Amino acid sequence: MTSLETIFEGWESADLEAACNTQDPNDGNTALHKAAIAEKPDMVTQILTAGGDPCIRNHQLQTPYAATPHSDTRIAFRMFQGQFPDKYNYSKAHIPGPVTPELLELEKEKKAQQKRAKRQREKEKQIEKIKTNQFLLMTDAEKVKAAEKRCFLCGSGLPKRPFEYERYTFCSIRCLQNHRNLRPLHMSA
Ligand SMILES: [Zn+2]
Repeated sequence: MTSLETIFEGWESADLEAACNTQDPNDGNTALHKAAIAEKPDMVTQILTAGGDPCIRNHQLQTPYAATPHSDTRIAFRMFQGQFPDKYNYSKAHIPGPVTPELLELEKEKKAQQKRAKRQREKEKQIEKIKTNQFLLMTDAEKVKAAEKRCFLCGSGLPKRPFEYERYTFCSIRCLQNHRNLRPLHMSA
C-alpha cells in the first residue's frame, strides 16, 4: 500500500492523468493495478475518474481488472463502465461488461437463489444418507416389510424397475450379483 500512497501524493503535482498511468518499473503496475490488487473498489472508481487507463498491462500482461479476483473491486470497474460507456476501451481492458445497480441487484438475487438451491440439494443428500443407513441397519425381514423399499445391498433408492431375486430387491444388477455372491457366507456364518 505504501507505493500506492506514494503515487497519490504525486497527484498534487502537475499531471494527474500521467501520475495515474505511471507504471511501477518492478512489476509494471499502475495505480489502478495497485488499487485493484489491494481490493479497494472506491479507489478504483476514483482513479478511473481521474483518467487512470484500465487498458494498461503490467509485466504479467494483466489489465487492472484481470489483476484482481475480488468481486466488489471487479464490480467497481463494471459500474464505471455502466456510467461512462465511452470513456475507455473496456473490452481491451478485459472488463466483461457494464453493470447498473439494478442489474447488480438481479445478479445478487440470482446468486442467492443458486445458494439456496445448493443448500436444498445438500439437505436432501443428507436425508438420503440417513435413510440409507437406517435401511441397512434393518434385518432382512424388516427390509421386506419396510414402507419404502430400498436396495438390500447398498440401501440406495430403487429405480422404476428394480432388480430382484427371491424376496430381495436391488438398485442395480451389480448389487444383486454381489448380494448373491455374499449370501452363502452370511448363511454359514
Ligand atoms: Zn444397490
